[in-house]
Amino acid sequence: PDVLQGLLERWSSQSLEPQRASPRTYSPVAVCHAIANGELVNYYQPKVDVATGALRGVETLVRWQHPDDGLVFPDQFISVAETHGFIDDLTHVVLIEALAQARRWHDSGLALRVAVNVSMKNLVGLDFADFVLDQVLQSGVAAQDLILEVTESRLMTDLRIPLDVLTRLRLKHISLSIDDFGTGHSSLSQLRDIAFNELKIDRGFVHHASQDKTKHAIFTASLNIARQLEMKIVAEGVEDRADWEFLRQQDCDLAQGYFVAKAMPAAELPRWLAEWTGRYAALL
Ligand code: C2E
Ligand code: MG
Ligand code: MG
Ligand code: MG
Repeated sequence: PDVLQGLLERWSSQSLEPQRASPRTYSPVAVCHAIANGELVNYYQPKVDVATGALRGVETLVRWQHPDDGLVFPDQFISVAETHGFIDDLTHVVLIEALAQARRWHDSGLALRVAVNVSMKNLVGLDFADFVLDQVLQSGVAAQDLILEVTESRLMTDLRIPLDVLTRLRLKHISLSIDDFGTGHSSLSQLRDIAFNELKIDRGFVHHASQDKTKHAIFTASLNIARQLEMKIVAEGVEDRADWEFLRQQDCDLAQGYFVAKAMPAAELPRWLAEWTGRYAALL
């Protein structure tokens, strides 16, 4: 497992989005201002049905529209917000906008489930569940159409409160997803305690899975676990045609990745959908 972990870390550091600047971290004050000044913007990455190509949902991925530095990616500010105590504020801003957007899509006839990434740090507050449930109610979005994606943190040892908070949300029909499955942060033990709806296989086991014995083995094992526990399976990081064909052969439920679409502002979704519909037809 240690060897695997090392390999994974190398793979994931190699495959950053191309337009991404070299990683730097911002000061807590700068990140705090960004949240307070409304400089965070939600981007949305499509999740499509592997069997039919249909758009099923989107994952919300936050970006910082920095006045001088342009678009800043979450790996440059999420951990700052987590360490300095404003991750709740960040999640609140992202969630409220994601729900408002989900409602707009719903009203325009697009039935999409919207996923929001939640930090383990959000789950140590017992009031987090109430906050989410209130916002869902106010937005008019159906509870099951909100998916919370959770990645286990390496540093978190006492999971009692997070498990209570997630259970409470699950009992109110909010959908729960395990993110980055297979990386060791998302460990099997999570599966024992909560009825997750969805399992997302980390992109380290998806891209080139058909050409790599280890990735292939981990991918199919994860798929079997998901099937037996009646969870939907999402493959992250589908980057090329070979990855897509592999998912079709494996009967994977949903796919997400650059081959389908990168994360985009909400306004670009209709144009992408038209383009993808044509491209998908040509794939058959
Ligand atoms: P994640 O939730 O696992 O999201 C997937 C990441 O992989 C995203 O990076 C996405 O842009 C990228 N990605 C998607 N498809 C591909 C692909 O085909 N190839 C490659 N190489 N990459 C792909 P992003 O947007 O930079 O987000 C990074 C991480 O930051 C996310 O990982 C998530 O853990 C965290 N994050 C993003 N938004 C939020 C947020 O609102 N709140 C919290 N707490 N965390 C967030
Ligand atoms: Mg995610
Ligand atoms: Mg993920
Ligand atoms: Mg991942």
